[in-house]
Amino acid sequence: MESKESFRDSINTVDEEGKRRWLFPKKPQGRFYQYRKYVSYALLAFLFASPFVKIDGNQFLLFNVLERKFNIFGFPFWPQDFYLFVISMIIGVLFITLFTVAFGRIFCGWICPQTIFMEMVFRRIEYAIDGDRGKQIRLDKMPWNAEKIGKRLLKWFLFFIISFLIANIFLAYLIGSDKLLLYVKEGPAQHISTFIGLLIFTGVFYFIFAWFREQVCIIACPYGRLQGVLLDNKSIVVAYDHKRGEGESGRKKIRKNEDRSALGHGDCIDCFQCVHVCPTGIDIRNGTQLECVNCTACMDACDSIMESVNYPKGLIRYASEENIQKKKPFEFTARMKGYAAVLFILTGILIGMLFLRSDVEAVVLRLPGQLYELKENNMVSNVYTYKLINKTTKEYANVTFKLLSHNGSIQAVNTSEIVVAPQDLAEGTLFIELPSAALDGHKNRVEIGIYSGDQLIEKATTNFLGPRSFN
Ligand code: SF4
Ligand code: SF4
Repeated sequence: MESKESFRDSINTVDEEGKRRWLFPKKPQGRFYQYRKYVSYALLAFLFASPFVKIDGNQFLLFNVLERKFNIFGFPFWPQDFYLFVISMIIGVLFITLFTVAFGRIFCGWICPQTIFMEMVFRRIEYAIDGDRGKQIRLDKMPWNAEKIGKRLLKWFLFFIISFLIANIFLAYLIGSDKLLLYVKEGPAQHISTFIGLLIFTGVFYFIFAWFREQVCIIACPYGRLQGVLLDNKSIVVAYDHKRGEGESGRKKIRKNEDRSALGHGDCIDCFQCVHVCPTGIDIRNGTQLECVNCTACMDACDSIMESVNYPKGLIRYASEENIQKKKPFEFTARMKGYAAVLFILTGILIGMLFLRSDVEAVVLRLPGQLYELKENNMVSNVYTYKLINKTTKEYANVTFKLLSHNGSIQAVNTSEIVVAPQDLAEGTLFIELPSAALDGHKNRVEIGIYSGDQLIEKATTNFLGPRSFN
């Protein structure tokens, strides 16, 4: 006997023989689809513009893994700032977790780049060339005649061009838009390895959007897999109101002049519009499923059916299981409060650290293997290496070192002026000499001021070693 949960045993994109079952979702229409279109325009504009927007000369978003340069919202992050990067990532994960616990997979339907590109770019091109569901099914079954070949070639060509464009934008995030524009100007022959990489990325995007499609969400996406542990019966998801839809005697097709409420029928008229419109091929009436990306297409489809039969809208709507079962409104649960509190604390820490972060970072360390040297006039000398990291886009010229904590001398071993170029580092060796009378034991903490001209740009502390005793 087939169990009620047997729909969970297989996925709709694979048939009984294990072969790919191609989906032909109906073109969504309705107010949520319209809102999602607006959101997608804004996100696409953001994605395509971000690598070309600069703040203080820094690319707005940059993830140059190879050169270890990262810019987030125009803030340059160096490998030395990695702890900030880690905190940002933890905040990101926590935010998504909290959001998922409260509002389910809304991120997937409204913000995820996979859904945005698939549903709002590639699928819309497909609708424009192949037509809606019915026409697409007919075209698929058609022999390879002139019409089918023409439509397929046009569609694949446009898919390739868009994949190539996405790969270029992806590259701008990785190597920087200035470099990308320079490479474009100089031509692919001058940068053959980068161009091959670009074509590989193009191929990957083409494969995903032309063939792999909804399988990314169903099979590959780790976030989708997490739903089982993140969602509970209080999470808001795209849900079918089974109480209202099934009534007492279940869902039934609508018949003229029948009194459905007297017959105990639910409001679902079993029209299958919510199934036909679903881009992952599921029937939301079976309950919350891993495949559901919360795209709202079934909500729009069902609302238009409810309108046409004069029933209230919202048979499929944003709701929690508890809301449907007990008519309870949304509740900010203890679990959500816990996540929100941790998120709030971490965000506060990150903001504090961002403000405390200096533009120039100085590291002064004693030269390994060296102790100290006793000099004339009871002077003690230590040798150090220094590293100055300029995280800004301005140059620091005429850099000098001054001892702030002791009376003594500090001298960099440089024949020329020290200059720290924008987003660069300067390194070298320096000597500190202190009178033995100024020392308090074997190990002393000294504070060094780093100046550019008269401007103090950073302070650093380091250890200064002297003899254990002067007797
Ligand atoms: S669209 Fe609405 S009425 Fe039609 S089958 Fe789906 S839930 Fe039932
Ligand atoms: S069930 Fe509805 S919300 Fe979920 S993926 Fe299908 S159409 Fe989108």
